[in-house]
Parts: sequence; C-alpha cells; structure tokens
Amino acid sequence: MKIETKCLHSGYEPKNGEPRMIPIIQSTTFKYDSSEEMGKLFDLKANGYFYSRLQNPTCDMVAAKIAALEGGTAAMLTGSGQAANFLSVFNLANVGDHVIASSAIYGGSFNLFNVTMRKMGIEFTFVNPDCTDEELEAAYKPNTKAVFGETIANPALIVFDIERFAKSAHKHGVPLIVDNTFATPINCRPFEFGADIVTHSTTKYMDGHDATVGGVIVDHGQFDWMAHADKFPGLCTPDESYHGITYAERFGNAGAFITKATAQLMRDFGMVQAPVNAYMLNLGLESLPVRIERHCSNAQKIAEFLEKNEKVAWVNYPGLPGNKYYERAKKYMPNGTCGVISFGVKGGRKNAEKFMAGLKLGMIATHVADARTCCLHPASSTHRQMSEEELNAAGVPSDLVRLSVGLENVDDLIADISEALKSV
Ligand SMILES: *Cc1c(COP(=O)(O)O)cnc(C)c1O
Repeated sequence: MKIETKCLHSGYEPKNGEPRMIPIIQSTTFKYDSSEEMGKLFDLKANGYFYSRLQNPTCDMVAAKIAALEGGTAAMLTGSGQAANFLSVFNLANVGDHVIASSAIYGGSFNLFNVTMRKMGIEFTFVNPDCTDEELEAAYKPNTKAVFGETIANPALIVFDIERFAKSAHKHGVPLIVDNTFATPINCRPFEFGADIVTHSTTKYMDGHDATVGGVIVDHGQFDWMAHADKFPGLCTPDESYHGITYAERFGNAGAFITKATAQLMRDFGMVQAPVNAYMLNLGLESLPVRIERHCSNAQKIAEFLEKNEKVAWVNYPGLPGNKYYERAKKYMPNGTCGVISFGVKGGRKNAEKFMAGLKLGMIATHVADARTCCLHPASSTHRQMSEEELNAAGVPSDLVRLSVGLENVDDLIADISEALKSV
C-alpha cells in the first residue's frame, strides 16, 4: 500500500459486521475467565489487555497505523510529545549515562534534556547539527547511549542530516532517535535514512485540528541490542521488576524497545494517551496526506510573498531555493517540508510584535501545525527560559516570528499578512 492508503487502512481491519472506524474502547480494565488466563498476560506470555495504563486496544490500533506509516515494527502512543521524547531517551539512558543531542531542537525538548533529565543524573552534550565530523566525534563518551535530533527543527527550521548522524551513532554502537514531528511520515521517513527510533508530537500535523495533545514512539526494529549488550543492560539483562524477562532475548530487535517502554516505563510513569484522544488522532491521520500537501503549497507561496516584501528582513523556509537547507531538504523531503515559516520583521522585536497584533486571520498561539494559521514570537514565549546565547545556538534569534500556515485559501492569508505588514 502507498502511504495515502495506509493512512486510511493500516492498524485496523474490521471483520464481518464490525465498525468501519477504529472504535473507542474507553474501558480501564478487561475481563478474564480465570486468574490463570490473566496471569499469562502479566508474564507477557500472551497478547491481550488487562489495564489501560499499560495498553489499550484503541491506542494500539492507532499506534500500529503510525508504525506502518513510518515503516517501523512497533509503536506506542503517549500522552504528549514531551512524554514520547522523555520515554524514548529514558528507555536507553539512566543515571550515569550520557546522550548527544542536536542543539537545534524544540524548546520543550531542550528544557527536558538540559534541566529535568540532568536532575535524573543523565548527562547531555548538545552539538550544532552542522558541526564538523571532528566536533561530532569528540562529543561521544564511553557512557553515550543515544543520539537525538529533529528532522526539521521547531522553530529554527534547520534540516537535520539524518544519514550522517545515523552513521556516526552506529559507528559508536548507539541508536539514533529522530523527532519527526514537523516533516511527518508523509514528507520524510527517517528510518529510510538509518534512524532507529522515531518520535512525534502527534499534537501537531498528525492530529492537525488543535484538538488533542499526544505523542508516539516508533521503533524501526533493526537495532541489534544484543550486539551492544554492555551498553544496554535495561534491554539485554533480566528485568527484576518484570519476572526476570530479558526484553532483547524474548522479543528480539523488532519488539524489545517498545515492549520495555510499555511493560516497564508506561507501567511506572503512566503517561498514557486516552482512547478518545487516540480516536481523534486517527481522524487526523486519515486526511494527513491531503492536508500536508496543502500546508506545504500554501507555505511555499507565502514564503515567496514574504521574500519580496520590503518590511521583511529575512525569510527562513527550506522550500526556498536560496535557503541554506534547500538541497538537504530536497534529499530528505523531495515532496515538500512543512507549513511552518520563520521570518524577521525589519525593526526587530518591537515591530515583530506589532505585525502579529495586526493579523486578523492569523491567531497568536503557542501552537503550530494545525488547520488554522497561527503565529508566535518564540523569544518571548516558548523559548523564554533560554539565554540570548542559547537562543542563537538553537537558531532562534530574538527577532524571529514563527508563522504556521494553515489550510485557509492562500489569497486570504496573503491579504491578511500584507495588511499586517503595512501597519508596521
Ligand atoms: C510540540 C513539540 C514537541 C512536544 O510535544 P507536546 O505534544 O506539546 O508535548 C516535541 N517536539 C516537537 C518538534 C514539537 O513541535
């Protein structure tokens, strides 16, 4: 099946007389005929459901659809994108371990790693995604457990060289985790370029209607954990909290990562996505290819319009031929990048705020990637915990306006933006 068809049909095949839509199974618990039957589930000897904190059928069907879209072997829905990124890293790295992350990542991920996960005793080294090979090589330590990057950085719009970072990670015997939120599997499938784990904030394009917060972790199922058993004791030695199961042995490369994340981390942290939210996420997934195409074509036209406007200092959109990442984007995302553009209004911070106040259709919101156009000044909102230096390192200067182009008629959007620029 091509990806448009997978968006509609993967993850759930109704049998005779069953609902055509993925049904909402809003039940905390599941009934069994005997304790022995239920016991098999607790021992992970049989597949099935007993408590929705660990697994729920609605969530699993939607996760299976996303796994199919990305080309992975297994997936797990989470309550948010933050939860997905946290669990994807914490499934590999514990106290005393080290992780390499691109410095051009979502502000919330940066804070999670740099502040909160440091408090848990995990050390992070942030590297410029365009650093030299020597700089990247120097970032590794004997206790490095993973490398992390973002396909298209939010909001810096830096395109991550997935293939290069995957090769480097594999040379050091560790997996590459890629947050693929902005590109979505419609425009980029990081596994095809060597990534091992993919995460998403499904809150963005996948839901796409500003309706549900959620996340997902997908495993490519190719990383050979046992070949690096000394690095990954959590996967390659018995889990005493789960009847002494060794995940990599019992579930192999295809299943170990997601099974551990579910049976151990979801059990203990409970960062679940509600079944009703998964149902809404699935509605978004069904139309994802159609929406992404329109988001990208609208954004392309608006980026071209902004580039010619005299009130605009600069425009950053990887779909513009003059963009630093144009060629790299063509390699990883030949059909388009995303609907998010960033640009500077001449006159800096003050005029940027004036422009935003002048918009009538475009709403000021700490959100991106949904049906309605919205805009944001990151330096005074999402990235306000960062110093001026950190902002520049993350590619988010303080004069940057982030515009998330929606599905409105593009002429209406250009008229709105044009009027708002005149007011500056
Ligand atoms: C929004 C976002 C997140 C965090 O996701 P939430 O669903 O808001 O928790 C992570 N990564 C990227 C790239 C994002 O845009």
